[in-house]
Amino acid sequence: MPVSPIYRPDPRVQGLGPEFADPVRAEVFPKTILRFRNDRAAATVGLDSLTADEWIAHFGRFEPLPGNLDPPLAQRYHGHQFRNYNPDLGDGRGFTFAQLREAETGRLLDLGTKGSGRTPWSRSGDGKLTLKGGVREVLATAMLEAQGVPTSRSFSLIETGEDLTRGDEPSPTRSSVLVRLSHGHIRFGSFQRHAFFERGDRITQLTDYVIATYYPELEGVNDRPAALLQAVVGRSARMTAAWMAAGFVHGVLNTDNMNITGESFDYGPYRFLPHNDPNFTAAYFDHSGLYSFGRQPEAVFWNLQQLAGSLSLATESDGLVEALNGFGPAYRQALTAAILARLGLKPRSEADDAALVQATFKAFSEGGEALRWEPLFFDWFCGDEARALTGVRGAIYREEGFAELRRLLAGYEAERPERLADPWFARPEPEELLYDQIEALWAPIAERDDWSAFEAKLASIEVARLAWGFM
Ligand code: AMP
Ligand code: MG
Repeated sequence: MPVSPIYRPDPRVQGLGPEFADPVRAEVFPKTILRFRNDRAAATVGLDSLTADEWIAHFGRFEPLPGNLDPPLAQRYHGHQFRNYNPDLGDGRGFTFAQLREAETGRLLDLGTKGSGRTPWSRSGDGKLTLKGGVREVLATAMLEAQGVPTSRSFSLIETGEDLTRGDEPSPTRSSVLVRLSHGHIRFGSFQRHAFFERGDRITQLTDYVIATYYPELEGVNDRPAALLQAVVGRSARMTAAWMAAGFVHGVLNTDNMNITGESFDYGPYRFLPHNDPNFTAAYFDHSGLYSFGRQPEAVFWNLQQLAGSLSLATESDGLVEALNGFGPAYRQALTAAILARLGLKPRSEADDAALVQATFKAFSEGGEALRWEPLFFDWFCGDEARALTGVRGAIYREEGFAELRRLLAGYEAERPERLADPWFARPEPEELLYDQIEALWAPIAERDDWSAFEAKLASIEVARLAWGFM
């Protein structure tokens, strides 16, 4: 069947004109083998009704969706990579394929590719994505969504039958094309590019587009660049806090990987923490630890400063500085909310909640490597002390280093405690997505094309998502 009646195309990015994006075509792949299809996400935009052949036609051969972008558009952007400015970026292996409305909320989403072939911005790259890279991104997005992190969602993963050469994977390695469903793909670096060319007029144009498309509540404000920055600061603070509560290290927090809607995306060498470690680094090429776990808030703030610098070409006011100053308070507030949500607790006073967050991190450092990240939140969900103490880690929680957190937790009321009745919480161990686990999921795929462990893991994360009930 073709698209369902709720499918609502709304392609508008081409209206920005040729300075913002370039028309491109997808590579013709030797093979198109479906490896992952997100029907839950597809149902929200009216694409779950597509037949298997139609799915491949749209997300493997990139035949345009009805009434949507034709041809697709590779976006232009620059960015700071590890704090060095790079004017040679842009969608080098992807494009915006479609823009469409989410049925329930009416908000505009887009479908963007990764690994769809070369574009004018590929430089020396092949425009491709490894299958392992695609598999890792599908897993990351599933886990982050389950944990309540604002994230892009993986929509489709199709193996494309080519041999790729990569320095960080045993090569030749298999190829894929990923489609992600995202709240837009406009990056901080999209603004930086126009600042680089000193085109305040284009910053104004992009600001107007972003407000009309993603922040309609800001229509009518006086100082649009400052209002936009303030909104982006707030959303970025929430995103960062959600990573910290999830124990997630993005790995490559360059300004071209920062979405203007505060939605986390582009998962390369990411890792989930085994246990609390502020210095934990995800990318093997991050030699200085610039994007380590504990430095993520600082990295995001630095990126917001670059966005403010670009927006300053379009406003004279002090509003940008004021907006930036909002990051610290917004982040602290969001971190408290995120930790409380992960513990399944209702907020109390600001001071109590701040003490609880502090005690949680202190307990983590006292627990050392013996206390992994996920189990603490799993064992103490809804503050159920009896359950925590009788579980497999009960002995850790009886230790002196845990006393303060236990005392504080006792003063909290559970948020939706009925969630604990889900059989998922009777398991001895929580859901985790540690590096070695991903390697173990990949091994049977690489060795004998056995996808059962990968599929079982996604099913298991879905059970966890429903049990947690964060979103
Ligand atoms: P990333 O590290 O994926 O965020 O990419 C950084 C920049 O390099 C972006 O401009 C990408 O489009 C580009 N890029 C990454 N990998 C490739 C590739 N295999 N071929 C072409 N461009 C790429
Ligand atoms: Mg990127």
